[in-house]
Amino acid sequence: NRKFVLAKRPKGAPDDTTLRLETEDLPTPGKGQMLLRNEYLSLDPYMRGRMSDAPSYVAPVEIGAVMVGGTVAQVVSSDVKGFSEGDWVQAFGGWQDYALSDGTGVINMGTTPENPSWALGVLGMPGLTAWAGLTRIGQPKAGETLVVAGASGPVGATVGQIGKILGLHVVGIAGGAAKCAHVVDTLGFDACIDYKADGFPGALKAAVPDGIDIYFENVGGAVFDAVLPLLNTSARIPVCGLISQYNATSLPDGPDRMNLLLGMILRKRMTLRGFIVFDDFGHLYPEFAKQMGAWVKAGKVQYREEVIEGLERAPAALAGLLKGEAFCKRVVKLTA
Ligand code: NDP
Repeated sequence: NRKFVLAKRPKGAPDDTTLRLETEDLPTPGKGQMLLRNEYLSLDPYMRGRMSDAPSYVAPVEIGAVMVGGTVAQVVSSDVKGFSEGDWVQAFGGWQDYALSDGTGVINMGTTPENPSWALGVLGMPGLTAWAGLTRIGQPKAGETLVVAGASGPVGATVGQIGKILGLHVVGIAGGAAKCAHVVDTLGFDACIDYKADGFPGALKAAVPDGIDIYFENVGGAVFDAVLPLLNTSARIPVCGLISQYNATSLPDGPDRMNLLLGMILRKRMTLRGFIVFDDFGHLYPEFAKQMGAWVKAGKVQYREEVIEGLERAPAALAGLLKGEAFCKRVVKLTA
C-alpha cells in the first residue's frame, strides 16, 4: 500500500518536502471492517488547511499520518452490512491506494455508477457546498444579480449554473481569458470577468448595472475589495472559502479597514454567513443528491474534470491547484 503522509507543516505554499510517500503491507480488515481500493482521490483547497496546525473547525493532520482526502473506491472485501465486494463507494479514504473503513460516512454507489469520479465534484461535496450555500444562505429570487468568485472551479461553476436555473443574472469572476470563455460559453453564465486583467473593478461594475444581491465568496482578497462597493442593500454573502489567503503567512499590510467593512454591513443591512458544508448542511444531502442528479442528467448542469494519472503526482497537482493552475475539478486516478 502506497500512502502519502504529512512530513512537515508548510510555511506558505506546500512544496515537495511537505508530504512523503511511504509503502506498507496491505492493511487487513478486522471484524466489522471493509477494505477499500481507492480509485480516485479528490484534490480540494481545504487540504492546505489540514496541513496547518492553526486554529480551525477541525483538527489538523498529525505529522506522520496519512493525508486526508475524499475518495471514490471499490470494495475489495467487506464485513460491513450494506457493502459487498465490487461496490463503488464514496468515502474519505485519504491519499493512499487502500483504506480500511467501518462504513461510517461511506456512501454506496452500487456496482455500475455512470461517472464514478463525479461523486467528488458536482454530485458530491463541492456540489452540495454550491447548492446549499446558494439556496440556504443566498436566498435567491428570480431577477436578482448573483456574482460568484472562483467561477470555473467545481463550487463556483455549480453555483452559477444553479443561479441560471433559478432565473438570476449571473456574473462569474475567474483568472484568465480561457477560464472566462468556458464559464460563459459552456456553463452559460451571463458574463465572466477576469480578475487578473487590467481594469478589473471597472469591468465588474459594468457587468452588474443593478448592483449585486448575492455574492458567493470563494476567494477573498482583491476580488472581495472590488465586490464590496457594488453590493446592494440587503445583499446576502455566503462566505464559503478564501482561497487567495490559504498560503498566506500573515495579514496583508495596509490601513485597517475593518470598520469600513462593518459600516458597510450596517448601512446596507447585509448578511454575511460562513458555513462548513457537512456540519451545517450535511442533513440536506439526500435532497441535494436527488435534485443535482436530475439536473446533471438533464444536461442543465455541465461538469468538467481534469484527471491526473498516478498517486505520485498528487502533491504537485495540489500545489498547482492552490496557485490557480486547475481549470476545473482536479482528481487523481490512482490505478491504471
Ligand atoms: P477551486 O477549484 O475553485 O479552487 C482552485 C481555484 O481557486 C483556482 O483554479 C483559482 O482559479 C482560484 N484561486 C487560486 N488562488 C487564487 C487567488 N489567489 N485569488 C483568487 N482565486 C484564486 O476550488 P473549489 O471549487 O473546490 O472550492 C472553492 C472554494 O470553496 C475554496 O475557497 C474552498 O476552500 C471552498 N470550499 C468551502 C467549503 C465549505 O464547507 N465552506 C466546502 C468546499 C469548498 P482562478 O484561476 O480563477 O483564480
